[in-house]
Amino acid sequence: MITKPILSGLGLDGFKELAIAAGEPAFRAGQLAQWVYKKRILDPDKMVNLPSGFKIFIKENSDCCSSVITQNSKSDGGTEKLLLTLRDGNAVEMVIIPSPKRITFCLSTQVGCPVGCRFCASGADGLVRNLQCGEMIEQLWHGSNVIGRLPDNVVFMGIGEGLLNFKQLAAALEIITDPEMFALSPRRIVVSTSGHVPGIRQLTELGKPFTLAVSLHAVNDAVRAKIIPDQFRYSIAEILEACTEYREKIGRMVTLEYTLLAGVNDDDSAARQLAAIARAQHAKINLIPYNETGTEFKRPTINTIRRFQQILESAHANVTLRMEKGSDTNAACGQLRRSQTNS
Ligand code: SF4
Repeated sequence: MITKPILSGLGLDGFKELAIAAGEPAFRAGQLAQWVYKKRILDPDKMVNLPSGFKIFIKENSDCCSSVITQNSKSDGGTEKLLLTLRDGNAVEMVIIPSPKRITFCLSTQVGCPVGCRFCASGADGLVRNLQCGEMIEQLWHGSNVIGRLPDNVVFMGIGEGLLNFKQLAAALEIITDPEMFALSPRRIVVSTSGHVPGIRQLTELGKPFTLAVSLHAVNDAVRAKIIPDQFRYSIAEILEACTEYREKIGRMVTLEYTLLAGVNDDDSAARQLAAIARAQHAKINLIPYNETGTEFKRPTINTIRRFQQILESAHANVTLRMEKGSDTNAACGQLRRSQTNS
């Protein structure tokens, strides 16, 4: 059984405990944080201002790097998917998404996913286990080593429903945003959810201006039930109520994610209702034409996609059409991991 905590997931408080347990003065925690989070060095032997006894203690009492990159697949568009093998042999992926002005990392929060959205490859096998905070931080660490710096933005939109792994996700958010650790602005972090209402409320309680992205995918509960199985599905009314609370308390515009599925949620009436919902919520809409992954669903034609977008725009909704980047490598979320684990 693996019991050692993962070094990068300990955070400043964990480093203080480590220093005290080693009989070192408390300021050693700050030095360790400088190495791990500012210089992104995880090997204690390279931390030249730490005493050798403390380096040995760190190595004996923590897992300094618990994951390795076992596959790197790059698309023509520049998107890079890293497959990481974890210390228990499970695999998880993170994606590096470049654009002219910024680099975004897409991180995973679980191995597999319990929600099981019917269009999603990641949810097809259910949940294997939650990721620990350190395993999320190591995704950021590996990605930063590949590009040679921290990303501009981080989106928790990879494999898993992060709000069902809230404690570990909240710890990772703290490490990513704390000025003494990675110090990224919470405004540059997107937390995505399939609409897990208790989790949205927990995120609201954190009180930090993260961007909340909610996968709505439908304008009524009957259509949503065709897309998301019962167990973790909340009604649209409950989800929108939680979004309103988030916006009012945090003061941030919520993003509504809408995956366009041919013949399911792509008709004119759905576009008009979605525009009305978004306007009432003061929300932004991300339209995502489905990237086919071998499920029962199909991507709408380009004409249907454009028409849906035009109806939203003429109804003065704030909408962005997000064509999947990286569809020429191993396609959408979860497929890289599945191609590996199924072989
Ligand atoms: S879309 Fe997201 S929440 Fe739904 S099954 Fe896939 S990973 Fe899970």
